[in-house]
Amino acid sequence: MDCLFCKIVAGDIPAKKIYEDDLVVAFHDIAPQAPVHFLVIPKKHIRTLNDLTEADRELAGHILFVAQKLALELGCEAGFRVAMNCNELGGQTVYHIHLHVLGQRPLAWPPG
Ligand code: 5GP
Ligand code: ZN
Repeated sequence: MDCLFCKIVAGDIPAKKIYEDDLVVAFHDIAPQAPVHFLVIPKKHIRTLNDLTEADRELAGHILFVAQKLALELGCEAGFRVAMNCNELGGQTVYHIHLHVLGQRPLAWPPG
């Protein structure tokens, strides 16, 4: 499958990995938008948030929990943001779901 993040999961494309387990991989974003900016992705290929199913409930919760654990490990206890862009209008550019985690700078609301 021609998917950038599946290739990162497989190790075919290098990434600065922070964490990996049976279900997910986390790695630093190649174009960080904050001093801390990493992505948590499922190893399973899921195209968009709209493609999540009941069978993915545990996986979806696990992605959030890993984001929290790593954000704290990377020094974001003062605050951080998680975001998942969905489809073109939502700003999604890579069609394998990924949770952005940004921290260590003030984050304005609403986002652009
Ligand atoms: P999206 O726009 O789909 O929400 O986010 C995609 C993110 O993936 C962007 O923040 C972009 O910088 C990041 N990204 C794109 N290609 C690569 C890559 O090859 N390696 C890494 N580490 N991040 C990437
Ligand atoms: Zn994929």
